[in-house]
Amino acid sequence: MKQFKLVLHQAVLSIIGEKSKIFYFYHDWTSEKENKLHKGNCKHCDYGMGRLGDEIRGESGVWIGPFDTAALADIYILENNLNPHPRCLACSP
Ligand SMILES: [Zn+2]
Repeated sequence: MKQFKLVLHQAVLSIIGEKSKIFYFYHDWTSEKENKLHKGNCKHCDYGMGRLGDEIRGESGVWIGPFDTAALADIYILENNLNPHPRCLACSP
């Protein structure tokens, strides 16, 4: 499973490149305080892969994106009633 995650991660990076100015929103439906907007290169986000741990993706939340601007992410978040959505304090998008 971990090997699959690494291959998927490398595929995502090859598609989007190392762009630092793209954004992802983490939607956690079990803990609203985890609903945050991140830069793609944030250590918590890692271009929508999250941390490479033992979590089961989609079990409690999903990464949504990429968005080319934080404003576009804000529109998506508002249109889909995914509030609250504070910015990540680690990457300050
Ligand atoms: Zn972040």
